[in-house]
Amino acid sequence: MIAYQNIIDKIAIDSKNTLNKGVVASYIPELATINLNKFGIHILDAKNNNYSSGDALEGFSIQSISKVLTLALSFGIIGDDLWKRVDVEPSGDPFNHLSLLELENGIPRNPFINAGAIVIADILASHLKNPKEDFLNFIRELTNDPSIRYNEKVALSEKRTGFKNYAAANLLKSYGNLHNDVEIVLDFYFHQCAIEMNCKQLVNAFYIFMNHGTCQRGKNYLNVNQVKRINALMLTCGFYDEAGEFAFEVGLPGKSGVGGGIVALLPNTYCVATWSPGLNKKGNSKLGMAALEELTTRTGHSIF
Ligand code: GLU
Repeated sequence: MIAYQNIIDKIAIDSKNTLNKGVVASYIPELATINLNKFGIHILDAKNNNYSSGDALEGFSIQSISKVLTLALSFGIIGDDLWKRVDVEPSGDPFNHLSLLELENGIPRNPFINAGAIVIADILASHLKNPKEDFLNFIRELTNDPSIRYNEKVALSEKRTGFKNYAAANLLKSYGNLHNDVEIVLDFYFHQCAIEMNCKQLVNAFYIFMNHGTCQRGKNYLNVNQVKRINALMLTCGFYDEAGEFAFEVGLPGKSGVGGGIVALLPNTYCVATWSPGLNKKGNSKLGMAALEELTTRTGHSIF
């Protein structure tokens, strides 16, 4: 039996005491107001044991972590047709780098760069009756938690400053890889990023990726091959241009967001979420990455 609780308590104390906590994302004005001193970590293991430390029950903006959940929902709906519209190669470039939209055919390099996530948002806009409501319900169902909500202030804040996302959506549209209106797709995209969840809710949602596509209540959402593909994408593309470093230091598939959250998992074993709003230069949570490195080093629980 691994002493997860002792390990994460120590990590939380060390993190709170660390002086250089990184910098909060300021390009979305609403995120710039978050307290840099927050740190939370939560683990859910395959036997449904929960371990929590620090500010693990405080909600934050999940931002790009939402891209894994939109991918899961759209993959479940349209299956492998999805890969006709988005590729599966890591980028090695920052998340909002426009050159990543391959210009000859308008196919983004992967579903986690913004252009790729905007294509996924477009797929959901085409296939869901009430996209925003249905997506939120999907997350509420996965987590068995009806309290999860969009933060409208964050969505609006991003809409007002989302010039690069507008540029990416328009470019996709010009290549015929956006079937709905730019405004409709981006309204959905800005909202998915503005979902507020805490570390515990995140591990509940990501449980399906460590458990062959089946949630804690036994409902199946994805088949084993689909989960394999999503986990592979998290490993290779989940951390912007720092995916190699994350695999090297932590050794788990995962996804970060500029709200300072990270979720990572070891199939069949555990799922962990961290939140610390200060980011490093690559846009990943500085203390979250350090915490996960410490966790996998101390437990030996990585995919390698
Ligand atoms: N909503 C953010 C954007 O589109 C997501 C960035 C992120 O978390 O990577 O810029």
